[in-house]
Amino acid sequence: MICKQCGKEFTPGHGNQKYCSVECRSKSKNLLDHQYYNTKKHEKTLEIIECEYCHKKFTKNHGNQKYCSIDCQYNAELEKNADYRMKSYHKNKKRGGDKFWGVGSGGLGPHRHNDPDLELLKIRNELKRLNLVK
Ligand SMILES: [Zn+2]
Ligand SMILES: [Zn+2]
Repeated sequence: MICKQCGKEFTPGHGNQKYCSVECRSKSKNLLDHQYYNTKKHEKTLEIIECEYCHKKFTKNHGNQKYCSIDCQYNAELEKNADYRMKSYHKNKKRGGDKFWGVGSGGLGPHRHNDPDLELLKIRNELKRLNLVK
């Protein structure tokens, strides 16, 4: 029989004996306890996760961490905002289509024409277009 702790060959005194001596047995127990403790500690504090931005694996330092670095967090926030802006832009564009009549859909434009006659003509055309005058 080979001692699981020191690797020395020994003759077991009873069937389940795995170590040559009490000393080896207690050493091994301590080692196992130590390993167990380390694993527990590892699980608790060190969690390897993937950065949501660069997909690099990193060790999580605190509960809600999603990014490996402040840079990644910053870039991810920027992209999120840009994405949001793009989506709302397309939504507004769709709403401003030919069939949608609402605020800002008139043909007058945001600025007054420099020539008062032209501006009046524009307003008249717009009123006619919207069937407000006959
Ligand atoms: Zn031993
Ligand atoms: Zn990252």
